Amino acid sequence: MRDLMDMHTHTLASGHAYNTIYEMVKEAARKDIPMLGITEHAPKMPGSCHKIYFMNLKTLQREIFGVRVLFGAELNILDAEGSVDLPEDILKQLDIGIASIHPPCYHGGDAGTNTRAYINAMKNPYIHIIGHPDDGRFPIDYERLVTAAKEYHVLLEVNNSSLSPNSYRPGARDNYAVMLKLCKLLRVPVIMSSDAHTAAALGGHEEAKQVLKEADFPEELIANYSRRLFTEYVPKAE
Ligand SMILES: [Zn+2]
Ligand SMILES: [Zn+2]
Repeated sequence: MRDLMDMHTHTLASGHAYNTIYEMVKEAARKDIPMLGITEHAPKMPGSCHKIYFMNLKTLQREIFGVRVLFGAELNILDAEGSVDLPEDILKQLDIGIASIHPPCYHGGDAGTNTRAYINAMKNPYIHIIGHPDDGRFPIDYERLVTAAKEYHVLLEVNNSSLSPNSYRPGARDNYAVMLKLCKLLRVPVIMSSDAHTAAALGGHEEAKQVLKEADFPEELIANYSRRLFTEYVPKAE
């Protein structure tokens, strides 16, 4: 099946990524990827952009070099209440919202607390994807996570960067095995993302594909293969 999209990527604006928007889109066009998500780290990530950057995304075209581009944010989950670091009036202008836990912005807790943080974030109508729910430093209850993803209609990410040999997130492979088994059982779709911080990494889903293959995961539950399925979760992709 054709992989239609990479919805989690970063540009220079994130502060620790290395290409421009136009370089990233050009790379997507070159690699024949029809849909690209540019999701800068939200303001609490040290070195990332101010909220005014996100307010002004409306000035950008949504089709560039023949690629359908969605502009959004990778929000930081800040606490067990699932608070994130952009206000609602800005969130509602974004095309796509990913919410993730990152060490400088979230001060872990036990599995119960971390799971609550994710689930409360899922209740936010502007969050469409939970980013890299795989980090062994922040243990979670996968049964509750996957059940909540179904209830609140949110996609769970299979993050290629987490699975790469130089990943910052330990235990991702084992955690995905547990998560994917439950997703398969409960019919909860997932999305593969590169989490690229360079143009070279854009569209790289090889590790994610391998993990999905090992889980014998049904293709009809992988959002990358169906624009219709993806749009059910991210309506502005229409
Ligand atoms: Zn980053
Ligand atoms: Zn992240």
